[in-house]
Amino acid sequence: MKSEIKKLEKQARKLEPSAENRRKLLEQAMQYGEDFLDDLSDKPAYVASESMGKGVYDLPIDDEPKDIDTLLQLLDSEVDRPGLNPASGKHLGYIPGGGVYPSSIADYLAAITNRYTGVFFSSPGAVRIENKCIQWMCDLIGYPEGAAGNLTSGGSIANLIGLVVARDNKKIKAKDFHRAVIYTTRQVHHCVVKAIKFAGLAEATIREIPMDDRFRMKTDVLQDQINKDKNKGLIPLVIFASAGTTDIGAVDPLDDIGDIAERHNIWFHVDAAYGGFFMLTDHGKKVMKGIEKSDSLTIDPHKGLFLPYGSGAVLVKDGQKLYDSQHMTANYLQDTLKATEESSPADLSPELSKHFRGLRMWLPLQLFGVQPFRAALEEKLLLARYCYEKIQKIDGIEVGPEPELSVLFFRYLPESGDPNEFNKKLVDSLHKDGRVFLSSTHINGNIYLRIAVLNFRTHLDDVDLMLSLLKEKIRELHKADSIS
Ligand SMILES: *Cc1c(COP(=O)(O)O)cnc(C)c1O
Repeated sequence: MKSEIKKLEKQARKLEPSAENRRKLLEQAMQYGEDFLDDLSDKPAYVASESMGKGVYDLPIDDEPKDIDTLLQLLDSEVDRPGLNPASGKHLGYIPGGGVYPSSIADYLAAITNRYTGVFFSSPGAVRIENKCIQWMCDLIGYPEGAAGNLTSGGSIANLIGLVVARDNKKIKAKDFHRAVIYTTRQVHHCVVKAIKFAGLAEATIREIPMDDRFRMKTDVLQDQINKDKNKGLIPLVIFASAGTTDIGAVDPLDDIGDIAERHNIWFHVDAAYGGFFMLTDHGKKVMKGIEKSDSLTIDPHKGLFLPYGSGAVLVKDGQKLYDSQHMTANYLQDTLKATEESSPADLSPELSKHFRGLRMWLPLQLFGVQPFRAALEEKLLLARYCYEKIQKIDGIEVGPEPELSVLFFRYLPESGDPNEFNKKLVDSLHKDGRVFLSSTHINGNIYLRIAVLNFRTHLDDVDLMLSLLKEKIRELHKADSIS
């Protein structure tokens, strides 16, 4: 048996490269990263390639070791070329973020040391780092002591956790789920509707409260609706407000909603996945006044804090309620109960083993300090306003409301023909060009183009380039139309 074990050991040891090989791997990977960043400003924000990365399938996963050059080449041609480039400052679609550099170092270190951040007992320091990040965000929002939270993979899971805590806190039974009512607007992120399903609440009533002309929840209607629902014997469960809708950046009147929620004893969740970090700015604090009245909140560091993807957070004002909803013990975890000075992420989320997410947030915040983040967010707010002013000066452009945060929408109204057709062509031609990336949406049956300024690499030059490309594409489409 020993000789068999030794034989296997020899093969298994290949999983631990020598120091020299590690250095080689790292050097090549680092060179790849450097080349990527060096060329970033010249690279397109979007590439509509024919193959769409199909070359990935040509390389089998089998017993054959491949060399790192081959793999990095594949990464370059098949992964980092086709599609959207979220690292680019010219990415002005959806909700950008970017991915600040120190997070990559943090991920590297977290993967090497592989600290187990599920429970405090196993990695007290790492859990404290995560709790420190959570506490910092709770302070930013204005939550009192006793608040808690969890670093999630993103806003979708954060919204799900918030909803489940609301459900559990109400102590309603499954037999009553069909009487539960969830209040929101049509602008709410679709992941909330998914969360409602995952939380077993598919039978609950979703009330889409009408919005004002700036797409914000009408609180007088909300108030009336709650009264009506109560009279009908229904159970008002949760109000899901948005602090920056993804589509158009609208912020619901959080202050008023907070009062209504309190008066009626309804859980108040704010989805601030996109807008939350604007609380670092004076403007953001003004627009999101009353956010601290919420019971729970979603905020995405991979958006407004510019971290790489995989970083969301849920915060709950009364941390005990988060714990009561999410914790569970198991026989084999009994040793972990020896150290309970700090709450463990596993007690505050559905996850157990997880990536040490806190390090990729903590390291850049510590290395840079908070100030450059605040400046970048203020810059984004101004760039969005700059866009809004400039774009209106283009003949034929119709704009939506002034951006509340950093998202705006517009469309081109051609002198003749279907505006929807024209704007579809306009966004297609921008995508085909690829130098900048805008996305489109439809509101009340009309197609609009959106500009979302949130990548930390987006600066004045990028916005100017976008504006000139927009004019160019409109001109080209006109020309094509008049020829055909
Ligand atoms: C992005 C976003 C979400 C979803 O978050 P993910 O991190 O993509 O899972 C939810 N709500 C809002 C308002 C968002 O902008």
